Amino acid sequence: MGSTAVISGMPAGIADGAERARTVAVRARRMKQRRQMLDLIAASYLTDATLLLIYSFTGTIPDIVVPAYIACGFGIIVGSIALSESGFHDRFKDHYLVLPTAALNVALAMGFCFWVPQVAFLFLCSLFIIFSFTSLRANTSQSLICWAGMTGALIVLFVFTDTPVAMPNGTLLERTATMLVLVLTIGRCMFVGMYSSAMRQSLYKRGVQLREAYRRIEELAELDELTGAFNRRCIMRMLDDEIARAERSGAPLSLALIDLDWFKRINDSFGHPTGDEVLRTFAITIFANIRSFDRFGRYGGEEFLLLLPNTPREEAHALLDRLREIVGELDWSAFSSGMRVTLSAGVTTMSADETAEAVLARADSALYAAKEEGRDRIATT
Ligand code: GH3
Ligand code: MG
Ligand code: MG
Repeated sequence: MGSTAVISGMPAGIADGAERARTVAVRARRMKQRRQMLDLIAASYLTDATLLLIYSFTGTIPDIVVPAYIACGFGIIVGSIALSESGFHDRFKDHYLVLPTAALNVALAMGFCFWVPQVAFLFLCSLFIIFSFTSLRANTSQSLICWAGMTGALIVLFVFTDTPVAMPNGTLLERTATMLVLVLTIGRCMFVGMYSSAMRQSLYKRGVQLREAYRRIEELAELDELTGAFNRRCIMRMLDDEIARAERSGAPLSLALIDLDWFKRINDSFGHPTGDEVLRTFAITIFANIRSFDRFGRYGGEEFLLLLPNTPREEAHALLDRLREIVGELDWSAFSSGMRVTLSAGVTTMSADETAEAVLARADSALYAAKEEGRDRIATT
């Protein structure tokens, strides 16, 4: 199915253009999200580099370690940003490339564990941060693969080598640096947790907005734009529902087809926009004077269908006659001097096992009779 089918009702060229614009917008948003993520990882590398600088100052590690760590860490980040910004990541379903990114960072941490085991504690702590970042975007299987990979690397480090994994605590400065490693690791994990919770909240908010928009769309799909009454499709569905309900309960169901009299003349004399205003005012008047369980919909043009559940024929007739009086007595001259609006209606009551079509046809013939008898009246069959 082409994009034309997706954006139904639009000419092909416009639909393609809209689709392209949407793709570009989605890519730009994803790129921005990846950039944000990579900036955070860069900040994390910078924190570790600062801590390593203290160990370098205390003589725990050779001076070359800090520049080497910065070069490797930033190499990963700059390379990732370049690939991301060239659109490489967008070729994949998982556009964050969660596992390759985690693998690179874990490899770097483990490599430094082997190279400078005297501060292995710091690199082991960075595994927590890598895992926190990974779990932000990873699904369950990706998280499990990442955890298994880390476990494998730790088994090699602790079981298959005798690398003396250490936590520097010889001097006060070393102990302070080690304490800072712990504090900042916990802090960064906490930050990632808070970031994830903010993301959840924003997703929740989006969900609420979407539900509201969906409700509004459903509402609009059911209502007639001009009058606010139910549209024809909706009132016909309601008629079927009411027939089924009446059959179940045995309660009488009446209905009325209401048609404004000489409406063409109103349009011709006062203009179509005034005719629209009349239709709107008429609908509001009906809404204000029917019961909460009655259903009022636009059947077409200036013809309306009113469903009166639980209402016997005489009561329905009286109700319609009252509506006729109210509409006729409204001060229509406020729209235009000399204007008068009246209605005619055909009222009928469902018989057992009757179809919607049959009942509507009966109401229509009653309406026709009301018109024939001179309009501004209610005919009941
Ligand atoms: P009758 O008493 O026999 O019903 O006469 P009528 O003039 O009302 O009947 P007819 O069916 O000939 O004309 C209905 C008119 O209603 C014609 C049409 O232009 C007008 N109409 C239908 N829908 C709208 C609308 O949405 N807005 C306006 N302004 N006029 C409408
Ligand atoms: Mg009419
Ligand atoms: Mg009509």
